[in-house]
Amino acid sequence: MKNKYVFVTVLLLVLLLTGAGLTQLYVKEETKQQDSEFTVVTSFYPMYIAAMNVIGDTPGVDLQNLSEPQTGCLHDYQLTPADMKLLSGADVFIVNGGGIESFLSDVAADYKNLSIVNACEGLNLLSEEDEGEEHAHGDAHEDAAEEHIHGDTEDTHEDGHNHGDVNAHAWMSIALYKQQVENILEGLCRIDPKHQDAYESNAKEYLAKLEDLEREQQSLKEELSGKHIVIFHEAYAYVAEDYDMEISYTMDLDEERQVSAGEVADVMGAIEKNDISVVLAEELYGKDMGDTVERETDAKVCYLDTLTRGEYEKDSYLDAMRQNMELLKEAFTE
Ligand SMILES: [Zn+2]
Ligand SMILES: [Zn+2]
Ligand SMILES: [Zn+2]
Repeated sequence: MKNKYVFVTVLLLVLLLTGAGLTQLYVKEETKQQDSEFTVVTSFYPMYIAAMNVIGDTPGVDLQNLSEPQTGCLHDYQLTPADMKLLSGADVFIVNGGGIESFLSDVAADYKNLSIVNACEGLNLLSEEDEGEEHAHGDAHEDAAEEHIHGDTEDTHEDGHNHGDVNAHAWMSIALYKQQVENILEGLCRIDPKHQDAYESNAKEYLAKLEDLEREQQSLKEELSGKHIVIFHEAYAYVAEDYDMEISYTMDLDEERQVSAGEVADVMGAIEKNDISVVLAEELYGKDMGDTVERETDAKVCYLDTLTRGEYEKDSYLDAMRQNMELLKEAFTE
């Protein structure tokens, strides 16, 4: 009986100490934010990784990400109260741009003193026409226009999921990602000139690594160039761009959605007609369709990382891109 009391007392003590520890940790975090002279907030994962490499361990600069590392693309993202608090304490907000951050116009209106760095600024973004002759986003979309002409209306999925007129998944091209890093560098130096030297030397180092990556990509490009593919995610249009591959069909599976029998028939038809041997898909939302393709055709499905989710690690872009290269090589050569 007595043992039991001792146990409970010890347990309470442990809880108390843990609580105190956590409070201290929390207080530390708070002061850290207050102490830093300059707060940079990025919108989502690939921008965070790019900014992380430019900022490095520059003293007095605090880098935060708006969304969670596993949030993915922000096409339908709604700002949370915590996000708003973060933005109100930020000096600069780094976004991908090109319509990926659907809430951006609200942020610009509500936080007038916040400097926004648009990583896609001046980039040659792909549009829907670059996604192959045919493409499908979902039923309502397909019914809307037989020939799939959008004009200047926005490209909206049946549930209101919005992509805008351009395909802004530019980080999937190493060449364009390098330009994004340069835009981020330029923006940070303009807004925070005090740390210009640090930003410049960090960016130089990172860009050199990206150039190595590009050289590795070059030899694979010789093998892949001119191949016809089908893609199950708009982000892979930039992979096609980097490797000079032709997209025969785009089926946009970047969210949980119903795929109609008509769409399935269209994809299968496109694969047969164009003698497609490789389909690029994202495992998260493209696996079911990928299984169907592998069951019913001779095409292989290559599941690539869209680099929209991952760990907050400096080299994660480089690592994921190398992994993608390996997967592409396997898919096309085996
Ligand atoms: Zn996306
Ligand atoms: Zn469309
Ligand atoms: Zn979509």
